[in-house]
Amino acid sequence: MECIFCKISKGEIKSRKIYENKNFFSIFDINPVSEGHSLVISKEHFENFLDLRNNLGDDLIECVKETISIIKKEKPFEGFNLVNNNSEVAGQIVKHFHLHIIPRRKGEKLKSHLF
Ligand code: 5GP
Ligand code: ZN
Repeated sequence: MECIFCKISKGEIKSRKIYENKNFFSIFDINPVSEGHSLVISKEHFENFLDLRNNLGDDLIECVKETISIIKKEKPFEGFNLVNNNSEVAGQIVKHFHLHIIPRRKGEKLKSHLF
């Protein structure tokens, strides 16, 4: 069975893309821990951070920054956490590289834990 993020990447499962470049795209998390919680996902299947090719760094950073700038306009926030879980023991459920962008606002509690 193919992985869920590969299906979203290929458009086999429809999902509103917030932003995309050559190697990454971003979507809103289906089960947000704060308003605007988003995921930056590699277009190609890599199991985790260590499997990413080194030359993908620029596109990853660009996708994170652009996504933050877009969601900030839609749902303003003061700060954010970037979270990346690697392997089950660290809380990784979907075995396809993704980075969580978690908007943080004064007085707003997270709805659940990510790891
Ligand atoms: P992990 O624990 O692997 O770092 O987190 C996986 C994240 O992917 C979870 O926050 C979960 O809510 C999210 N997720 C899982 N399946 C889907 C999906 O089909 N669509 C979206 N938008 N998010 C998903
Ligand atoms: Zn995949």
